[in-house]
Amino acid sequence: MSKFGRGTGFAITALVAGMSVAGMSWAGVTDKDILNDQMTTDDVVSNGLGPKGQRFSPLKRVNTDTVKDLRPVWSFSFGGEKQRGQESQPMVKDGVMYVTGSYSRVFAIDVKTGDELWQYDARLPDGIMPCCDVINRGVALFGDLVIFGSLDAKLIALNAKTGKVVWKKKVADYKAGYSLTAAPLLVNGKVITGVSGGEFGVVGKVEAYDAKTGKLVWSRPTVEGHMGYIWKDGKKTENGISGGAPGKTWPGDLWKTGGAAPWLGGTYDPDVNLLFFGTGNPAPWNSHLRPGDNLFSSSRLAISPDTGKIVWHFQTTPNDGWDYDGVNEVVSFDYKANGKTIKAAGTADRNGFFYVLNRENGEFIRGFPFVDEITWAKGLDKNGRPIYSEAHRPGNPAASADGKKGKSIRAVPSFLGGKNWMPVSYSKDSGLFYVPSNEWAMDIWNEPVSYKKGAAYLGAGFTIKSLNEDYIGVLRAIDPKTGEEKWRYKNYAPLWGGVLSTAGNLVFMGNPEGYLMAFDAKSGEMKYKFNTGSGIVGSPITWEMDGEQYISVVSGWGGAVPLWGGEVAKRIKHLNQGGSVWTFKLPES
Ligand code: CA
Ligand code: CA
Repeated sequence: MSKFGRGTGFAITALVAGMSVAGMSWAGVTDKDILNDQMTTDDVVSNGLGPKGQRFSPLKRVNTDTVKDLRPVWSFSFGGEKQRGQESQPMVKDGVMYVTGSYSRVFAIDVKTGDELWQYDARLPDGIMPCCDVINRGVALFGDLVIFGSLDAKLIALNAKTGKVVWKKKVADYKAGYSLTAAPLLVNGKVITGVSGGEFGVVGKVEAYDAKTGKLVWSRPTVEGHMGYIWKDGKKTENGISGGAPGKTWPGDLWKTGGAAPWLGGTYDPDVNLLFFGTGNPAPWNSHLRPGDNLFSSSRLAISPDTGKIVWHFQTTPNDGWDYDGVNEVVSFDYKANGKTIKAAGTADRNGFFYVLNRENGEFIRGFPFVDEITWAKGLDKNGRPIYSEAHRPGNPAASADGKKGKSIRAVPSFLGGKNWMPVSYSKDSGLFYVPSNEWAMDIWNEPVSYKKGAAYLGAGFTIKSLNEDYIGVLRAIDPKTGEEKWRYKNYAPLWGGVLSTAGNLVFMGNPEGYLMAFDAKSGEMKYKFNTGSGIVGSPITWEMDGEQYISVVSGWGGAVPLWGGEVAKRIKHLNQGGSVWTFKLPES
């Protein structure tokens, strides 16, 4: 709870709205509110229910006994013809929900009634180039601002009361293939954002902006060799080259268009004062064009929120040849070993391995597969580096008879990943990670390609196939201390939404078939499901109001699978689009 308290917040809000008192300002969301978000159950003011991204709530009124009575209290439509994928996580503060929709739209909704308070539509230019649907993953809140990233690569801050633009900042050039899709991260008054665009040969970067003014504070490129900058007192100064020299882990000039886009956004851990960002694939996909490790692609980076310095890095797929875009979220957790508390972080990579790292220094603690089959690597060495299976790297087109198509190989997982963007949950009660995963393979081959601004830069062809007739998605409960899978739930369609766990011994997630589902966190037994009318690819939240516990989730099928999924996309083409947010609670006793 902020020092202003909820009652005061309401009073001032009413005054400002009703009387337009000049000079008065609502305290709104503070840094402290964000840091304490997980334990303050009357609001949700960070992406991940706390900056560590555990997606765990201490609420338990809705639990394994009561969840059967859960029912919707309202559903709000995003409207228009603009449907497609809805991958947002809603936020809730002082009776208002802030949620994004496809095509860079933001809605403020009265959580008591489901009434719309305002809607903001970004006027997007022709020629935006989102790789993987026109999605958005949510807003950040700070003070009286609602801040989000648009598909034309701008950060936009709106007045929380009116939806009017307060500031707008161009982060990168959408004509070069950049876009913003992640929820920004808010740390110590700074808005921190990555960029999307790894399929277009952009240069990935993480940037910090002053949340109040939109002024750039620091910029950290995520491709080795590029210079970072910090802005202070109106002066721009160099902030150190990212990694080693230009071209050190890249041949020739390839580092100039190296990808490594940190497109998912990051987490923040106040215990170690570090931002954690994953980085995407090196560009192009054809790995024969760029022998070397290609830092910092397909890696995890720990970055100082104060200066933008890279404090440590851990690369999951050096010289990635499969689009194992290792952007996946890094989730802090502590555990005891030999009487000591280990400050660990868990991350489930697109490449099929789950990694446990020391979050203070990035040291590899352990790694294990979290999917049933991995072909591209035989395992991990003692430092967590993959032991490659060369037969499962797509062949070099230069070695083929006409130089146009390299040998096609079968690789598992497919490039859409053992896990893609959809965030895991870590339960402080069970000590387990709940990992939304998919079992699929791909045929992939390489082709020659050269960089052209604003054009796809892949040098690869592919098709994705299911490994099993009856399911692709698998929600898994995994013990990060041993790698043991405690239970699994199998889903026909690929899972593409985030997970929430609660002290009510429940795990919530949605599926593309439209169901919001709740499972017993310890046994995996399904305790509840409700069809929301379109596929769920967003992340559920929970909060309380007037002594009652609420669950909310967005519904609207789409995202990368229908666009890139090959044979899998055909198998699920009957799933209908949508665009709405649903809110549930128990009947009043
Ligand atoms: Ca909270
Ligand atoms: Ca990619």
